Amino acid sequence: MVKFPYSFRRGQKEALKFIKGVGGNLCIDAPTGFGKTPVILSAFLNKIHPIIWAVRTGNEADRPVEELKAINEITDESFFGFSFRGKRDMCLAARERDIADTESVAYFCQKNRNKCQYYINLSNYRIKPFEPLLYSDIIQLSAEAEICPYYLQRELLQYADLVALSYNYIIHPGMSWVIKSIIPFRECYLVVDEAHNLRLIGNINSDYITLNTFKNAIKELEELGKEVSGRE
Ligand code: SF4
Repeated sequence: MVKFPYSFRRGQKEALKFIKGVGGNLCIDAPTGFGKTPVILSAFLNKIHPIIWAVRTGNEADRPVEELKAINEITDESFFGFSFRGKRDMCLAARERDIADTESVAYFCQKNRNKCQYYINLSNYRIKPFEPLLYSDIIQLSAEAEICPYYLQRELLQYADLVALSYNYIIHPGMSWVIKSIIPFRECYLVVDEAHNLRLIGNINSDYITLNTFKNAIKELEELGKEVSGRE
């Protein structure tokens, strides 16, 4: 456990004590603004068992990493962590070719990885994780060094005290091996952010589309149509 980095707000001290006292699974329900993220990080951060912080979408993965940066700064600790994102967000070669959807990027990488200059450059890159990295930090660092950001993340896993990623990397058998081949799940703490979203898990990567999804898509198309005809 690390020193709590801030003056305690109402309820935080009790929550921290409670979390530390529970030896197994627990569920925490607290209102927005309570400050759950620093409480949970303070309770679980250590140099032996990493924290896997699962969020509903990759876009939300930066939040605990931002908090980790603040904890390091305030407490003088040196924990390392980062947001882990999929190839669709990370592939520099696909960006250059305007390939944007998940399947196409995955296919592109599968066919081109061994001759991809970003991938080749990574094998000569000396990895020195020194401070927590947000998604944008990894992209910037990789673009400057001309290395593959996606496979850089895979290398960084072995150094991580915290990895923030989408639920997919925990529950999808075809994706979870990416993480657990380097961080065995039995050896880490799993934090599921906004866990009420787990009820939607059945919809993740399914080939099932609800009537509402269709209705919303039609609505968006109609709005787009109005916008386009307004410009003409
Ligand atoms: S190795 Fe990296 S940069 Fe190259 S195609 Fe694959 S994901 Fe993209």
